[in-house]
Amino acid sequence: MRLIPSLVSISMLLMPTAAVSGQGFDVIVLGALGGIQDGNLSSYLIRPHGDRNAIACDAGSLVNGLKVAQDKGVFGDVKVPEGSTDSVIGHVLKNDIKGYLISHAHLDHVQGLVIASPDDSNKTIYGLPSVSAQIEQTYFNWKAWPNMLDRGQQPHLKKYHLEDLKPGETKDLAGTTMTVTPFPLNHGGAESTAFLIESGDDAILCFGDTGPDEVQKAFNMQTIWKAVADKVKQRKLKAIILLS
Ligand SMILES: [Zn+2]
Repeated sequence: MRLIPSLVSISMLLMPTAAVSGQGFDVIVLGALGGIQDGNLSSYLIRPHGDRNAIACDAGSLVNGLKVAQDKGVFGDVKVPEGSTDSVIGHVLKNDIKGYLISHAHLDHVQGLVIASPDDSNKTIYGLPSVSAQIEQTYFNWKAWPNMLDRGQQPHLKKYHLEDLKPGETKDLAGTTMTVTPFPLNHGGAESTAFLIESGDDAILCFGDTGPDEVQKAFNMQTIWKAVADKVKQRKLKAIILLS
């Protein structure tokens, strides 16, 4: 696994791996904090190593994060096609980010996506049904923002297909070689999500906001550890990202 630090160091527990060049994932940190700092809110670009087609796990800061990454030279190899009027950042936003996994609908995990949506390309937003419903009802409702979705308040601008995920069910991430399996988390009464993202034999686990089972009065973490135990033993789980 190769980490590309773009903003600040991230809360990541590296699992023991037999890392081999050409395997694993590249992770570009677009934002690493929760809360009040509006240019640095949770968002992680994840792509199989050597593959441009990425998924964003949460989108608290999006264009701001892409700009910091560009300033650090992360996109030095990006070639904007001749004739395109896009900047490098615009090109990465529209072409490389194939979709968004949203762990929960708190503002500090989605605001970058909402703000960038007029300039974004058509793609899919994935979330558990309660999270999708919040995205639809709270943001893309023609009051907070125009409805860029393909459902909810009419008219539908259909920039984003809002895809409901089922807990524990694996789904292809359109436009990428990755799949996702979501696991519900408790976030102080709200539903949050851990995403198990897989590409070939490799996996990476991205946790939305949550707390220990004992504090959250739930067994969500236990369920996830059981689900990934074999991958840890087989050294296929390359990293765990803890969003804040
Ligand atoms: Zn939250």
